[in-house]
Amino acid sequence: MAELKPRVKTLVERWRAPGLAVVLVGHNPASEIYVRHKIKACQALGIYSEALTPPDSVTTEELLEIVTRLNARTDIDAILVQLPVPKQVDSKRILMAVAPEKDADGIHPCNVGKLVAGLPGPRTCTPAGIMEVLKRYGIAIAGKRAVVVGRSDIVGKPMALLLMHEHATVTICHSKTPDLPGICREADILVAAIGRAAMITGDYIKPGATVVDVGMNRLDSRAEVARVFRDSPEKLAAFDKRGNVLVGDVQPFDAADKAGAYTPVPGGVGPLTIAMLMANTVELAEARAGVC
Ligand code: NAP
Repeated sequence: MAELKPRVKTLVERWRAPGLAVVLVGHNPASEIYVRHKIKACQALGIYSEALTPPDSVTTEELLEIVTRLNARTDIDAILVQLPVPKQVDSKRILMAVAPEKDADGIHPCNVGKLVAGLPGPRTCTPAGIMEVLKRYGIAIAGKRAVVVGRSDIVGKPMALLLMHEHATVTICHSKTPDLPGICREADILVAAIGRAAMITGDYIKPGATVVDVGMNRLDSRAEVARVFRDSPEKLAAFDKRGNVLVGDVQPFDAADKAGAYTPVPGGVGPLTIAMLMANTVELAEARAGVC
């Protein structure tokens, strides 16, 4: 974020502030929190931001119209449609409608193609943030065994490609993978992007491995909080106050015991994702302004 500040300043001096539009459909409490954090990050950097909030009942056509209008706006450089969208909306059509040169999350097939081909273009924020943290903490990637659990378009697939481009030997696992613990134990770098609370226990972790926990899961039973966090008074107090507690896909105590390096939840991949969204917004604005 600190590195982005002078770049935003240059844009403001020579052109105008970069602009990010976030489309948040309906009332999804988790999405509302993410969007709030994203808008706050924009404010901290001096990036212009706008949240568009169509109702839960929005149709694909109405959402397409919103995206088309944003594509045409000269003050908006980057567009993010916060997922998930309601069932009646054809999310693929919406994501395809975002202009590739305004695609804040690098999810348009043109930008996915650029990622596959190793060409410059916006990269999906969460995997790009994970690559930054690995590099900045001096974690060796070339020649290492990397295992990515999860094959979503937004995390697992781009993560595997980015690791492969940095010369890791990558295995992608999913719900049909047999002997998941055995495969995970081969990993020097293990990325868990599953959406299953504390599923990756010590049995999945090679001693000294780097473990990246992408998962964001809410525990809403006190007994579950007590089990996962081993009766931690702090976590139980947090549950009593809020009615739920956030946990990743990795069992945090096991990771602390066995991993050589570990991104905790909260405070790991989440803030990185937001920082990379800001980086993509600045980069897209620079490209439009012609100052990069
Ligand atoms: P997703 O689209 O639901 O994909 C989950 C993947 O995990 C799928 O590929 C699925 O396999 C696999 N999986 C599910 N159960 C499994 C099991 N028991 N064993 C092995 N693989 C299993 O989720 P996502 O969007 O990638 O997100 C994953 C997690 O990361 C979620 O908790 C999400 O909230 C979190 N997330 C966090 C951030 C952040 O900024 N921190 C950003 C994005 C996502 P199949 O393909 O076979 O179904």
